[in-house]
This record gives sequence, structure tokens and C-alpha cells, in this order.
Amino acid sequence: MAKRKFKAESKKLLDMMVNSIYTHKEIFLRELISNASDAIDKLYYKALGDETLNVSREDFAIWLKADTESRTLTITDNGIGMDDKELESNLGTIARSGSLDFKEKMEKNDEVDIIGQFGVGFYSAFMVSDKVTVNSRPYGGETGWTWVSEGADGYTISENPDAQPGTEIILHIKEDTDEEKYGDYLNQYHISSLVKKYSDYIGWPVKMNFETSHLKEGTGVEGEDGEQIPPEYETVIEERTLNSMVPLWRKNKNEITEEEYNNYYKEKFYDYNDPAAVIHTKAEGMVSYDALLFIPEKAPFNYYSKDYERGLALYTNGVMIMEKCQDLIPEYFSFVRGVVDSSDLSLNISREMLQHDRQLKLIERNIDKKINSELMKMQKDDREKYEKFFEEFGVQIKFGIYDQYGMNKDKLQDLVLFYSSLEQKPVTLKEYVLRMKPDQEKIYYATGETTAMIDALPQVDAVKDKGFEILYMTEAVDEFTIMAINEYEGKGFVNICSDEFDMGSEEEKEEIKKINEESKDVLEVIKEALGDRVLDVRFTNKLKNYPVCLTSEGELSIEMEKTLNAMPTGEKVKARVVLDINAEHPLAGKLKSLAGNEDKLKDYAEILYAQARMIAGLPVENPAELSNLICELM
Ligand code: ADP
Repeated sequence: MAKRKFKAESKKLLDMMVNSIYTHKEIFLRELISNASDAIDKLYYKALGDETLNVSREDFAIWLKADTESRTLTITDNGIGMDDKELESNLGTIARSGSLDFKEKMEKNDEVDIIGQFGVGFYSAFMVSDKVTVNSRPYGGETGWTWVSEGADGYTISENPDAQPGTEIILHIKEDTDEEKYGDYLNQYHISSLVKKYSDYIGWPVKMNFETSHLKEGTGVEGEDGEQIPPEYETVIEERTLNSMVPLWRKNKNEITEEEYNNYYKEKFYDYNDPAAVIHTKAEGMVSYDALLFIPEKAPFNYYSKDYERGLALYTNGVMIMEKCQDLIPEYFSFVRGVVDSSDLSLNISREMLQHDRQLKLIERNIDKKINSELMKMQKDDREKYEKFFEEFGVQIKFGIYDQYGMNKDKLQDLVLFYSSLEQKPVTLKEYVLRMKPDQEKIYYATGETTAMIDALPQVDAVKDKGFEILYMTEAVDEFTIMAINEYEGKGFVNICSDEFDMGSEEEKEEIKKINEESKDVLEVIKEALGDRVLDVRFTNKLKNYPVCLTSEGELSIEMEKTLNAMPTGEKVKARVVLDINAEHPLAGKLKSLAGNEDKLKDYAEILYAQARMIAGLPVENPAELSNLICELM
């Protein structure tokens, strides 16, 4: 029998395929099962419109059979089948409709896109087989046919009267190599896991005879005479359906119990806890899809590390095409797990194509909105739960605000919580602004490592005393976040420890100006002693009980100095600071009394500066010298 040649395009493609353009060879099974399922669909729909065809839904199935001796894996369906002409045109060539286009693409050598563009599923069989036999008989056909190929050099088609209605594809699995254990594709457990992974929601049952070993009855037990009867095993063959067929997300919401959602989530995403929220939506219109999304209760242990892979599982018509599709979800919601199933996507679409896919962008946008509104709902209806959620994932959202030049701040700023000095719990910016005093122009905040440390800041004490609310920024990202927000409902932010902050009255301002002028000489000496460590030294009436504090000037705050300097790379930075001395503190009087005594004043300068650094949570620069100074003074 003369061997027929594959059409030129097919040959090239076959070479490419076998040389593993698909990184996961295992997807061949998904492709063949999908083809089998399509073939059954075709016959089923044909029968719906034709009463002479006597078929019923229950009769249809796809069977898998692995034989380790002959090293074959057989995929059989009782679908529409193919005659010789169809075998020739369907399996002898690829992309008939688009072959011109195909050639052009080929010349541009845009290889990966080609895979995405054309239906080439069947050929993926050659990634794992060195010979493929297809026995097929069209439904109601008088005879059947056999198609055989050993790869790129061609194929034969011959009549086969024994072929059953439908299609049987026999893969002669390759010998194992160092890189690939092809023999795994003959292992019933491996096959079963691949079906679960990729084809769980195919609409027809995928069946396989499972061999299990059982203890023979009456063996391996103690006999009547007290003697142990040695165990004997027998092989039992049972038919199993490997796929669950109806995906949870395709069912109606009101048919699904909370428990079903929770179990699905825990099983699929390996979590011990129930999810904090479930989002199940169906979209129709510009793009149609079903999405089933989960917000976890706890961050996975690797969430804030590089190991965590974000993304949603992407299905098309119940077939998984990607396990973690990053393009479906924005980074700031990377903690969301779930599944998207859209019939608008092509099964053979490649990763590279997906990135540019318009449908996918639309889906992402919708999902983004959905998650956002679900979180806002939680914030409103179940504050406690929301606060817990925010504790787990808030940092991610704060990063999202600051990331990409603040592009997403409008969407995300209402999700953010900061600890409030007034409420002593996390509050939203909206809540803060609603409570602002009529004469308060800006949102007050203070920064520090913990709320307790901020509570202990001298400036905080004074502002709280006047009845103002302060937001506490305890996370390294916080200040960057509010810098990105810049203004919330027209209100800017001010760090109450910065020079920019002043809430004294005109009279108070006048008074302190006078004090500073009177003590110019004393302040000059202190400033000189501290050199370029401070921008200025001055008396202030902003501090209540504390003797001194450091006030930063300009963009870079003291907290930012700490954060940036804690990073392993990059230059060390220093916030520009002013040393403020409490004019109302007894210490002020002491300093004034030392006017003219330069040596003493210089010693005091060192101690005051060190104290101010300690209060701000900064390290003391020369602890040994300092301790000597204090001892001398004492
Ligand atoms: P695609 O499925 O994307 O069209 P394939 O290369 O997988 O591309 O298959 C080519 C064609 O071969 C299919 O469109 C279908 O007409 C036919 N075919 C493949 N497998 C079967 C099958 N099991 N039963 C009937 N027809 C099949």
C-alpha cells in the first residue's frame, strides 16, 4: 500500500510538535479526549434532529485502555466516526480552511502562534507515541477504515470492516528516555490523575477498567483450628468513571450548598480552612463565562514570597487549558483562587496568544470589579471578617495602590484600613474624613513600628490631647501608599511629626517666635555642636510632656529613612531633621540658664539629640560616648 504524504504544512508542524513546542507532553490526552467528546456531541445533536437515529444519552462514553505489554494506550469513543475521505482530510492535513494563512505565518517563523491558531490537537499524540493507529467507522457506515502513521513521513488508509462505529485511537507509546518517562502514560493512576486534571468536566463519562488487588476471601485470617491461613490476592477489575462531568460553576447558584462550595475549594486548592468568601458569577454579552472565585481566610504560607504563583484556572467548555492564568487577575488581588470557564476561547490557544487576547482582558476587568465589590460588601456587612481579611492581605492591596504609579488608587483606596487613635481599631479613610473637625484641613497620620510605639511619640500625645484623630502607619508600605493616594476626597495627608504640621494658634506662633529669638545664642551653640546632623534647633510649644523630638522636613520622613535603610540594596538615606526642644519643659529653663557656658551646652546638645533619636526609634550613633557624657553630668 502506497504511503500518502502529509501536506507540507502538516509535516513541518508535526516536526515542531514532536520537538515539543508544547512544554507539557501530557496534554495529548486532553486533546484526544476533547476530540472524542466533540465526536459524541456531533452524533448526539444529529440524532436530536433525526428520529431514524436511535441513540440515547446513556449509551455514550469515552473509554481508555492501557496495556503495558503492548505499550499501547487506546482512546475509544462511540461518536460520529470518520470514513476514508474524512480520515484523509481531517488527519492528513491541518487547518484546511486556513492553510494559506498558515503558510504565511510559517514563513514569518512565528512558530508558537501557529499552534494557537490552528486545530492541531490530534497531532499532539505524536509527542508521546512513535506510531498512531486510528480505526473508525462513521455512524451507520457500511464499512470501517484504518489510518496508520509513524510520524512525519506519512500515513496509510485502508479498509477495515471490523472497525466499530465511532473512533478508536491506538497510541504506541514511546520507549522511556532519560528526560521523559513515557511509560507513565500507561499507568492507570497517572492516566486517572491526568483526566481529573484536564478533563474532569467533559460532558461525557470517561471510563476505564481499573485493576485493583484484593485479599481473597477466607485468606489472611485465622482458621478454625487457630492456624493462620496465608493471604492470597486476586486481581479485581472494576469499571470506573474518571471524570465528574458537571462542573460546580456551571450549576445554578441556588442548587449549590455552602458546604459544596467549601469542599470544592478545600479539595481543589489544598486549604484546611473554609474560604472567607465565595464569588460565583455568570456573564453573558460581550464575552460569556462562568467564574467561581474564592477569597481565602488565611494567606498561604508562601504568599508573601517569590514562590507563590498567582492566577486562576482557565477552562474552555469544561476543558482546562491553563492551571494558573495570571492574565485573569490583577496582582493586587493575587490572593484570590478560582476557576474561569469561557466558551469564547479556543482550546488550542497558546500562552503567548492569551496575553493579547481581548476576551481575556474583558474577563479580567469584570473579575476585578466583582472582587472589589465583594470586598466592599464584606466591609459593610461583616466588619470583623473584613478586618481579619485585611490583616491577611491588606499589604497586598496597599502595594496595589502604590504600584504602577498609583494607577489603581481610585479603585482600591476605599478598601484600605489604618489603625485610628480615636477608635483604637482599623478604620477606612472615608470614616476618618467623616469625623474630621470642621477646621481640620488635612488627614493626620503618624508613623512607627507598632501602634504602641506611635502612641509613645511626643507629637501624638499633643495632637490627641486637642481631640484630633490620627491614623497610625505601622507597615513599611503605608507611607508610600498614602503618597500615591495623595488626596482623599480633597483632603491631603500630613505627618504630624513633620515640619509641615502646625496646628497652633496665631498667638501661640507669635509667642514661640519670641522665645526663639530671645534664646538665639543658646540655640546657635547647640546647633553648631550638632553640625550637619540637624537642619536647625529650635524651641517649640507643640510638645506636651516630652522634652525633645525630631521633626522631619521634606518628602523623606524618619520612618521612610528606616524602611529604605533596612533594604539590602541601595544607598543609605537620611531624613532631614530639626531638633525641637519643648519650651514649656523645665529643661528649657535649664538650657537658658547655661547661656555663655559653651562647653556645658555642647554636652547637653549631644544628650538631647540622642534622646530625640531614641524617642523616634532610631539608633543612637555613639552609645559609649553618650553614656560617658551622662555619667559626667550626673
Ligand atoms: P480540531 O479538533 O481542533 O479540529 P484535530 O487535529 O484535533 O483538530 O482534529 C481534526 C479533525 O479530525 C477534527 O476537527 C474532527 O473532525 C476529526 N476528529 C478528530 N478526532 C476525532 C474523533 N475521535 N472522532 C471523529 N472525528 C475526529
